[in-house]
Amino acid sequence: MRMSFGLLFRTAKGRWMAKLSRQCSRGSIELFVPQSPPLDPEKVKEFQRFITLSKRLLVMTGAGISTESGIPDYRSEKVGLYARTDRRPIQHRDFVRSAPIRQWYWARNFVGWPHFSSHQPNPAHWALSNWERLGKLYWLVTQNVDALHTKAGSQRLTELHGCMHRVLCLDCGEQTPRRVLQERFEVLNPTWSAEAHGLAPDGDVFLTEEQVQSFRVPSCSRCGGPLKPDVVFFGDTVNPATVDFVHKRVKEADSLLVVGSSLQVYSGYKFILTAWEKKLPIAILNIGPTRSDDLASLKLDSRCGELLPLIDPR
Ligand SMILES: [Zn+2]
Repeated sequence: MRMSFGLLFRTAKGRWMAKLSRQCSRGSIELFVPQSPPLDPEKVKEFQRFITLSKRLLVMTGAGISTESGIPDYRSEKVGLYARTDRRPIQHRDFVRSAPIRQWYWARNFVGWPHFSSHQPNPAHWALSNWERLGKLYWLVTQNVDALHTKAGSQRLTELHGCMHRVLCLDCGEQTPRRVLQERFEVLNPTWSAEAHGLAPDGDVFLTEEQVQSFRVPSCSRCGGPLKPDVVFFGDTVNPATVDFVHKRVKEADSLLVVGSSLQVYSGYKFILTAWEKKLPIAILNIGPTRSDDLASLKLDSRCGELLPLIDPR
């Protein structure tokens, strides 16, 4: 499947405009959600029993919960980024040590931001936020950086890998909203225009070397240090205090549900091991195999946005 979105940027009355071709509005489900078998009523009943018996449920979500919002995951067969493209995530070490790599990263991120930040929660995010409101969900841990749980109103939430909607200064640690940085980019690059081909739905874009080299990147307005999205890039480690916090929540929980994660990333997988060692019942809702299928008492190969709203959390 060709993923070119024919993005064109122009300044009009001093504002940046994005023209996304019609492909963008095509059904996200068709584009990024792997095929799954029809819902099995017996499995749904079993899952309902699992949720009804849980009094302190910890839910861990991954990229699979956001594919129905139009954000592709990395690892799904046929529809994931690894399967469709040769793009690979940026490495933490490269970002920190190289100003040209940061410039390249931010130029693409600037172009992709209006699209990436416009994604909205889907019925799975809304269901989990509702479970929290009704006292069913004890804690929510997400590996996603798309802010969709926050947009759906979840509060008892740990974003294990940070969030793209925040920016962090690598020197002084100050956090600022990503939208403020977008305004600073616009001020610093008033004549910069780019015709970018192949905008990926995750906000990644392709630019020529020339375009990147003329892009100006602001630094921290407090100390002048380099700015980075407040996310854990590949090759970096999750803050130990955050890991410790989540381990405590897992130990306080009485059951664990994984939603939309293949658990290939170790930072998420180790919490499943903790739950398993504590003999907590584990359910996994994910299309396709996961690293922990053999630890789960219940495995469901269904779409998150189709199954979760069917469950009564009371
Ligand atoms: Zn700073």
